[in-house]
Amino acid sequence: MSWQQNVKFECYERFRSPNRNAGPVEPGFYSRAAYFLARTNNMRKPVIAGNWKMYKTIAEAVDFIEKIKPVAAEAGHCEVIVGPPFTALSASAAAAKGSKVSVAAQNCHWDKEGAHTGDISTGMLRDAGCTHVIIGHSERRHDCGETDEQVNKKVKAALAAGLAPIFCVGETLAERESSETEKVLERQFVGGLAGLTPGDFSRIMIAYEPVWAIGTGRTATPEMAADAHRFLRGLARRQFGEQEANGVRILYGGSVKPDNVGALMAQEEIDGALVGGASLKVDSFRALVNYPRG
Ligand code: PEP
Repeated sequence: MSWQQNVKFECYERFRSPNRNAGPVEPGFYSRAAYFLARTNNMRKPVIAGNWKMYKTIAEAVDFIEKIKPVAAEAGHCEVIVGPPFTALSASAAAAKGSKVSVAAQNCHWDKEGAHTGDISTGMLRDAGCTHVIIGHSERRHDCGETDEQVNKKVKAALAAGLAPIFCVGETLAERESSETEKVLERQFVGGLAGLTPGDFSRIMIAYEPVWAIGTGRTATPEMAADAHRFLRGLARRQFGEQEANGVRILYGGSVKPDNVGALMAQEEIDGALVGGASLKVDSFRALVNYPRG
């Protein structure tokens, strides 16, 4: 019997059948039971999210969404999110309205309004119809010098505007090779989420995206990704408590493709995928949404 089957059996035996006084439980039973029930009760419904970066015109974005709407409608097992560029947000949200496709922006400013040429506020994103916003993507951290402090201000602004942040963290290759992965993840997690309450935290998703795996074709092995997710969940437990840690969805990102998504999603710790390149074509995004399930 796998541990999942074992826990299911034990839960049934102890809580639903007349055999309620069935002796002492194995060590770790209750935490495994909580984890299992969280998963089966869909507290952590998987998420497949596409980050379209600087690709797609308005017409291309709308056409894509029209084609993916029936796919999302059939995909009761996961949430489907697309992240068009700013110019296509409004039209994308209009196309997605009433469907199971949600629309995420790829960045935001923390101020409500002001003299910030080229920036977009969280209120404007809401106005455009977004429900989510990607914050702290490594391309912004590295191309635009975004700091943990700025990421933190963006997360707070997004929450205040009623948007769900998809908060990205991840180490560079040099950091992994010098065994600094956990140190970097901890710095980004603690800095990026400083000052949040457990209630705030329950509204965010985390995306673990090792920088060396983004757009490179080099994917973290499912075990490597799961280790990092476990570490992040431990940080969540320390900072926000057991319930929030068990509930937070941690997506993996970094060269996820139709042929590797199944192995990644088979890991209990991996609650979804944030996908760049392979989210741009309808066929490949459809295959990601319909990832192989046990
Ligand atoms: C990303 O942009 O978040 C990403 C993970 O890109 P890719 O899937 O292309 O590696």
